[in-house]
Amino acid sequence: MGAIKETLGFQAEVKQLLHLMVHSLYSNKEIFLRELISNASDACDKLRFEAIAHPELLEGGADFAIRVAYDKAARTITVSDNGIGMSRQEAIEHLGTIAKSGTREFFARLTGDQQKDAQLIGQFGVGFYSSFIVADRVTVISRRAGTSEAVKWESDGSGEFTVEPAERATRGTDVILHLKEGEDELLSHWQLKSILTKYSDHIATKIRMRKEEWDKDKNAYVVRDEEETVNQANALWARAKADITDEQYKEFYKHVSHDFGDPLAWTHNRVEGKQEYIQLLYIPGRAPFDLWDRNNRHGVKLYVRRVFIMDDAEQLMPPYLRFVRGVIDSNDLPLNVSREILQESRDVRAIREGSTKRVLGLLEDLAENRKDDYAKFWAEFGQCLKEGIGDDAANRERIARLLRFATTASDTPSVSFADYVGRMKDKQKAIYYLAADSLAAAQSSPHLEIFRKKGVEVILFTDRVDEWMLTFLREFDGKELVSVAKGDLDLGELADAQEKEAQAKVADEYKDLVARVKQALGERVQDVRVTLRLTDSPACVVADRDAMSQHLQRLLKAAGQKAPDTKPILELNPNHPLVQRLKYESDDKLGEWAALLLDQAVLAEGGSLDDPAGFVKRVNTMLLDAAAK
Ligand code: ADP
Repeated sequence: MGAIKETLGFQAEVKQLLHLMVHSLYSNKEIFLRELISNASDACDKLRFEAIAHPELLEGGADFAIRVAYDKAARTITVSDNGIGMSRQEAIEHLGTIAKSGTREFFARLTGDQQKDAQLIGQFGVGFYSSFIVADRVTVISRRAGTSEAVKWESDGSGEFTVEPAERATRGTDVILHLKEGEDELLSHWQLKSILTKYSDHIATKIRMRKEEWDKDKNAYVVRDEEETVNQANALWARAKADITDEQYKEFYKHVSHDFGDPLAWTHNRVEGKQEYIQLLYIPGRAPFDLWDRNNRHGVKLYVRRVFIMDDAEQLMPPYLRFVRGVIDSNDLPLNVSREILQESRDVRAIREGSTKRVLGLLEDLAENRKDDYAKFWAEFGQCLKEGIGDDAANRERIARLLRFATTASDTPSVSFADYVGRMKDKQKAIYYLAADSLAAAQSSPHLEIFRKKGVEVILFTDRVDEWMLTFLREFDGKELVSVAKGDLDLGELADAQEKEAQAKVADEYKDLVARVKQALGERVQDVRVTLRLTDSPACVVADRDAMSQHLQRLLKAAGQKAPDTKPILELNPNHPLVQRLKYESDDKLGEWAALLLDQAVLAEGGSLDDPAGFVKRVNTMLLDAAAK
């Protein structure tokens, strides 16, 4: 094994990524250097970590550095590191495939529209493959720490790569870019140095270059034999806030998150007290493509006293904040901390609680002071945050204040509970809401008629998680949350005495009819009654106050889960001519009419019919009747 030269094909997705990237990211071509430096620095971090348990891996020195060099004659740029390196097998796997969950789904989403795809590719993370934006051939020579054999990986980025044995004096990796025609401007000390300063200053590992200086006698720049460090080479998060520019924060974000775009906001703190740690936490500008993938890696990077310990330390963030990226650097955790220890540790729980509060504080600040940005946040991550209502009882009240929704007064999800409560009518005691499959379905629901008439705002919940969330959220600010599609509508003091009297009178007047309709519908309904909640529609269906709503039953069934089959209550609008006419129909006809009213009430609610053909037949019969008259 390993003694021969092999030619292998890239995974299909890599081919697609390479093709797209080269075309769509060309206007950002200098990012290739940031990506290679990022990988080199990760490789140093990984070795530093492995060496805690296996110090012999550091044979050859613990002075970590990344070197960037160029060769004008050969037209190459080389990025070298003395990090962990790769074995032959690792080179094949890491540089020939994409090991991310959801990769296939991600590629299925690409549209072919270059601009849109460039955005998506950026979100996906381009990494090593971005070399091919500027290079038509890339050679990687790598030797894994602790081994003596090196591997040479090479590809022109068109579909295949080769691996063969190679020589390398020490551990680490060289990535050699053979530049494309026309990229010669990159072959300059100053050009490379300025790209490094712009994108990679925050990298904690030293980045070294050969010195170049102006020589007066020769009247030219000359390359010196010494090296210089071109970045600050200390952990950005450990610097004082005042010494970090927004640009540096943003570049650091790109490094930790593998995101292409800017973060929306960040919070950077040194926490002192029982637990000492530094947190630098970011809210991304856009949701990663795998936000809803159960296997997605999430969490923040864990460092212990500046030593990188692990990526995606999910114990440091609750699942509903899985979109947060960044670094937590603990002063107290042991260096040999494992995922298992993280799960049990009380110190870790304290860090998680502290960090959760920080993120919520950051979001509150956004909501208060940067409303446009908060709207962006909400559009990307609002659904995640809603999970917190159920999952994080301790912060429920704070999270509830961060929620935003559409209402009968706003088509966009921009209303908070506080806004709603501030606009409540004088005599209004409860917060009214309606849950439906979509905004359009909610807006046209007959349940809203009486509220429109009275000018009472109703919150419209249309996300899948909403009904689940509502089982944990019964009130806000002492005001009960009441579904307008459940129970006997009690408008409380919103209804005036006259209306209450009318309701009683009507109930009496329609007693017989209600009994006949109930008889006719039999098993299909739980009850029938008259209502004053409707103004335009003849009928609607409601659920018992404590029963699961029809909407939630549908959601559960659609998700393949069990849901109790509670029957709806049919409410009739006594002011509607169709209902008034019912009184004078024979039992036969009444049965048909009642079935029709029930079916349309179910449809109006967004439900589906058990017997759609029967419904169509009834409608047609009536149309014929009407035509004959
Ligand atoms: P990512 O960095 O997002 O994982 P890349 O495509 O940039 O994706 O790199 C793929 C993998 O190749 C890395 O995760 C790492 O395992 C390996 N790799 C890349 N560059 C180096 C390097 N300089 N030293 C060691 N391993 C590397």
